[in-house]
Amino acid sequence: MHITPSETDDSTTGVDRTTALPPLLHPFARPAATPDSFIRIVSGKGAHVVDDSGRRYVDAMASLWYCAAGHGREEIIEAVAAQLRRLDAFHLFERFTNPAADALAERLAALAPMPGARVFLTCGGSEAVDTAMKIARLAHAVAGEPERSIIISRSPSYHGVTYGGMSLTGLPANRAGFGPGVGDIIRVDKDDLDAVAAIMTDKPRRVAAVIAEPVIGAGGVYPPRPGYLTGLRDLCDAHGAFLILDEVITGFGRLGSWFGARHFGVRPDLVTFAKAVTSGYQPLGGVLIGPAVHEPLRRPDVVLRHGGTYSGHPAACAAALANIAILESEGLAGRASVIGERLETGLRAVATTHGLPDVRGHGAMWAVDLPGGLAAAEIRDRMLTHGVIVRPLGSSTLAFCPPLVIDLADVDLLSTALDAALVRR
Ligand code: PLP
Repeated sequence: MHITPSETDDSTTGVDRTTALPPLLHPFARPAATPDSFIRIVSGKGAHVVDDSGRRYVDAMASLWYCAAGHGREEIIEAVAAQLRRLDAFHLFERFTNPAADALAERLAALAPMPGARVFLTCGGSEAVDTAMKIARLAHAVAGEPERSIIISRSPSYHGVTYGGMSLTGLPANRAGFGPGVGDIIRVDKDDLDAVAAIMTDKPRRVAAVIAEPVIGAGGVYPPRPGYLTGLRDLCDAHGAFLILDEVITGFGRLGSWFGARHFGVRPDLVTFAKAVTSGYQPLGGVLIGPAVHEPLRRPDVVLRHGGTYSGHPAACAAALANIAILESEGLAGRASVIGERLETGLRAVATTHGLPDVRGHGAMWAVDLPGGLAAAEIRDRMLTHGVIVRPLGSSTLAFCPPLVIDLADVDLLSTALDAALVRR
């Protein structure tokens, strides 16, 4: 790998610059990290990936919660290549469309957990969340209620890194140092329906929307308490606010249904999605938009002044169509509970042996809390030596979210690797 030539000691600042840093600045990593701290992943097949030294790992996180269909799926690769050969790209602004984007929107509208949905396409989850925020506010404004600008979100929660998504995110560390966020956002405790009700009552006709992950993901993997999501729906109905479900992780099979909304029996007004819509083969996200939101926008004088250059990129849409076909034909959503039950059993056994304070999850999305004094990053590193990639959340939680094609022997390996990592204390 090419490394920028190192500078010498900077005696005025006392900073040691003798260590060469890679030009690539990694997301969610220390900019001071040196090249030797990175594991270079070079190939993948099914639930496994391989690094440049030939070491094979079980990908217990489906990369970053997205690779539902598994790595190396020729059907998706071929669909993308065929699309690029036909039409590399052409934008969707104003008068233009492309067949892959139209076909994907039709497919997604049919899968949506609310009738009559329309679809807006983005390049990922953060952009999808910002799109949902903007469209929710715009729909109220166009319907004659421009003062409805407040968006209620939860703590903990994760909604991405753009200013909108970051401002909604209920993880203070992710906002630290980035200056003021987007205005009119109120965060409440993740289980506190009364707090949502109080805001809606105290600020009549001011709330545009409530946003919630059906199962909180990067915030710590917290399933909703019984009745929470339907309770949010009822409050939104009573006070004229929209319900946005952020299904960037939970969409496309992770909980056992196409969407968490269906799984928990709640009807959203907007659904944000990304990740497993393509299983990561191309960057794609978007928003499913229900009639209560898109109908006000049909007014002939309204122009939706929002959208990115690559909204509806045909290669990404082709990847999504091929991926969705795999999820459907292989019944992969149905595997979520099989994987989850096996994983839960293994993790609970480890919890008993090692005194882990909590094991929680839903479908094929799980986490364990580690006892005080054990750093999640350290246990993650030890698990890497046992050939398993998990993800630390905060300082003391480890997440598990494997590809839905993982076999049960590999599911068992996740808990045996955790057990082995905890033995070496
Ligand atoms: N929303 C949720 C629930 C997420 O989990 C994520 C990413 O993990 C995002 C939004 C942001 O998505 P992206 O990283 O694609 O921008």
